[in-house]
Amino acid sequence: MTTRRSFIQKFTAPLLAVPFITATTECQADQSQDKILRVAIMGLGGYGTRVAEAMKDSKRAKLVGVISGTPSKIKAWQSKYDIPEKNCYNYENFDNIRNNPDIDAVYVITPNALHKDQTIRVAKAGKHVICEKPMAVNAKDAQEMVDACNKAGVKLLIGYRMHFEPKTLEIIRQRQAGDMGKILFFQGLSGFRIGDPTQWRLNMQLSGGGAMMDIGIYSVNAARYMVGEDPVWVTAQEVKTDPVKYKEGVDETITFQFGFPGGAVASCLSTYSMNNLDKFFVNGEKGFGELYPASGYGPIKGRTNQGELTHPHVTHQTVQMDEMAAIILDNKKPIVPVDGAEGVKDMKIIDAIYMAVKTGVKQSISLS
Ligand code: NAD
Repeated sequence: MTTRRSFIQKFTAPLLAVPFITATTECQADQSQDKILRVAIMGLGGYGTRVAEAMKDSKRAKLVGVISGTPSKIKAWQSKYDIPEKNCYNYENFDNIRNNPDIDAVYVITPNALHKDQTIRVAKAGKHVICEKPMAVNAKDAQEMVDACNKAGVKLLIGYRMHFEPKTLEIIRQRQAGDMGKILFFQGLSGFRIGDPTQWRLNMQLSGGGAMMDIGIYSVNAARYMVGEDPVWVTAQEVKTDPVKYKEGVDETITFQFGFPGGAVASCLSTYSMNNLDKFFVNGEKGFGELYPASGYGPIKGRTNQGELTHPHVTHQTVQMDEMAAIILDNKKPIVPVDGAEGVKDMKIIDAIYMAVKTGVKQSISLS
């Protein structure tokens, strides 16, 4: 039988070949086992439900509280996850969480445009924040969130679950080991056909944008961790076939290109109007890595010039919560950062993509 422990050992085994990863993994292994991150989820919708279910199998994180505007949902979650009344809040009173010693962190899983104010309120209440992607609707708001968390002395992590996905990490390992040689090219394709035109994802006030905010961000983020550098310029073009469904500010399809300091270039697509688009490809002088599907809930499939990636499927959100608990409680350093500063970088790039679309002019990007 494959236990969860042997399962994790199996997928981390290839990573242990890299010296710096060995160091962080081993030194954290011993101290980490007793402390549990006690989490309240804010926003009991589709993704909040997925995270709650995945957290049942987490060794380091436990769902202990909820924040919701819908009393019937709170009741249902209370009985399903055995959540005491004193750990239940609504959007008006959740600042009182500061007086609750039984909650360590709040996971914000609400529509994008709400993340900023909710994160800042949680930080002011003295709790760590895990915030879903996109962390905000622009870089200025994102930076304010980082500043508020720093000021309050709490950690801010962004829900970048792919940063803990084994096949993704194996490609990063091979690239870092030099197996691919100098990196020359990245391709990112991120999209799906969105349905219901009345949903918040197509409402600029709540989404802060369109496909780019929701799904294109995966290609933006992956370009950085697959190439191993931050882009220094971007060009971008928008195509809109349905201006009724995709109103002003809500992008349907954007193609964008990056240039990296080492000379690599990237070509990416973000869309709400095509299915089967979930692919990352990185190409170097000596080898390549490919993930397809690359960012769905899995199983992720992939290969490199060395062969097919055979790491077993893991529930992304379970591993994410285990790892984020270790980051918050033990100061563990992840292989790919998931902190607020990492989120701000993506928001700066997305700002530049929107500016390139608007002006038709190549934009310089400075992430420092
Ligand atoms: P959803 O519509 O299923 O859930 C959103 C929740 O927020 C609902 O429970 C809703 O009641 C609540 N809410 C609170 N205030 C609201 C308001 N003013 N208007 C509308 N809803 C309000 O959405 P979702 O798919 O769960 O997405 C939530 C967040 O999670 C988004 O930021 C999204 O980008 C992110 N997300 C991340 C992933 C991932 O894989 N990391 C996947 C899906 C969604």
